[in-house]
Amino acid sequence: MQQQQQPVRVLVTGAGGFIGHHLVGFLKQRGYYVRGVDIKLPEFAPTHADEFELLDLRRWDNCLQATRNMDHVYALAADMGGMGFISSNHATILHNNALINMHTLEAARVNGATRYLYTSSACVYPEYRQLETNIAPLKEEDAFPAHPQDAYGWEKLVAEQACLYYTGQYGIETRIVRFHNIFGELGTWTGGREKAPAAMCRKVAVAKLTGNSEVEIWGDGEQTRSFCYIDDCLAGLYRLMQSDYRHPLNLGQDRMVTINQLAQIVAEIAGIPIVLKHVPGPQGVRGRNSDNTRLREVLGWDPQISLEDGLARTYAWIEQQVGGQLQPPHEAHLSVAR
Ligand code: NAD
Repeated sequence: MQQQQQPVRVLVTGAGGFIGHHLVGFLKQRGYYVRGVDIKLPEFAPTHADEFELLDLRRWDNCLQATRNMDHVYALAADMGGMGFISSNHATILHNNALINMHTLEAARVNGATRYLYTSSACVYPEYRQLETNIAPLKEEDAFPAHPQDAYGWEKLVAEQACLYYTGQYGIETRIVRFHNIFGELGTWTGGREKAPAAMCRKVAVAKLTGNSEVEIWGDGEQTRSFCYIDDCLAGLYRLMQSDYRHPLNLGQDRMVTINQLAQIVAEIAGIPIVLKHVPGPQGVRGRNSDNTRLREVLGWDPQISLEDGLARTYAWIEQQVGGQLQPPHEAHLSVAR
C-alpha cells in the first residue's frame, strides 16, 4: 500500500503582521501545514494558519515552543514600522529584534528545522551610498563597509551574518532576503507604524472623502524610493526559499520614484486633484533603489506588478478603511441637524 506523504510543516513568525499574514495564505494554497506565531492576531482578516500561537519571541522558551516539529521557518517577526517609528525608537528596536532574531534562529537549529529564511531589509545599506536622490541602485555587496542609518539596519545586518555563520557551523540551510518597501492591502495604514505607500493612500483618501485637497508630505518630497507589491514579494520569497542561494538577495522593484510622484500617482488613482503641503518630518535616506541583477540571475524572475496596479488595489482597500472611520460631510451635517 502506498504511504500518504505528510505535508511539509512550516512556521511563519510575524504571522499577525502584514507580510506574514499574506504568506500564511500563500503557503496554505500550496499544501503546506502552517503554524503562525505572533504577539497579536492579524488585524484585518482571520488567519489561514492550521494553528496560531500568541507568543513573545523575544523569549527563548517561547522560541523553542514556536519552532518545535517544524521543517521550515520563515522568520518575519520584528518590532518595526515606517520612518516615523524607525527613526525614534533605536534602542527598543535593537533590543527587541536582536532577541527575536537570535533566539528564533538558535531554537530552529536546536529543534532540527532544515531551512530558515530571514527577512532583512534595504535599511542595511550604508547611509553614505544614499545621500542623493538620483543614486545608483544598491547591489548586495554594497552593504559593506557597513554604516546603516538606523538601529533597525544594524540589527538586520547582524542577523544576516548570524544566518551565514549558522549555515557554516551547523549546516542549517539559511536564506536571506532584503525587502525594498513592500506594500499592499491588509497592512498597517494608520497609528504611526504605517509606511509611505499606506500613509499616502490614507492621506489621499481623507482628502477625497472630506473634500480638503491638502496632503502633507514629510520634507520636500524629492526623496526617492522603489516600491514592491505584496504578491511579487510572496512570489520572490517563495522562490528564494526553494533555491540553493545562501547569500543576501534584494527583493523589490527597481523603478525609483519621488515621494511627490508617489502622491500624484495615488491622487490619479483616487481621481482627485491634490495640493502638496511640505512639512518637517523624518525622511530617511535621500535616495534608494534596488539593483535586481542578482535577483534575476538567481531566481530567473523579477517583480511583475506595476506600481500603478499595486497602488490601485491598495488604495481601494485603504479608502474603504478610511470611509469606515469618517462620516461623509453630508451625513455629519444631517446628524447635527437632527
Ligand atoms: P509587520 O510589522 O506588519 O509584521 C511584523 C510582525 O512581528 C507584527 O505582527 C508584530 O506583532 C510581530 N512581532 C513584533 N514583536 C514580536 C515579538 N516579540 N514576538 C512575536 N512577534 C512579534 O511588518 P511586515 O511589513 O509584515 O514585515 C515583515 C518582516 O519583513 C519584518 O521582519 C520586517 O523587518 C521585514 N521588512 C519589511 C519591509 C516592508 O516594506 N514591509 C521592508 C523591509 C523589511
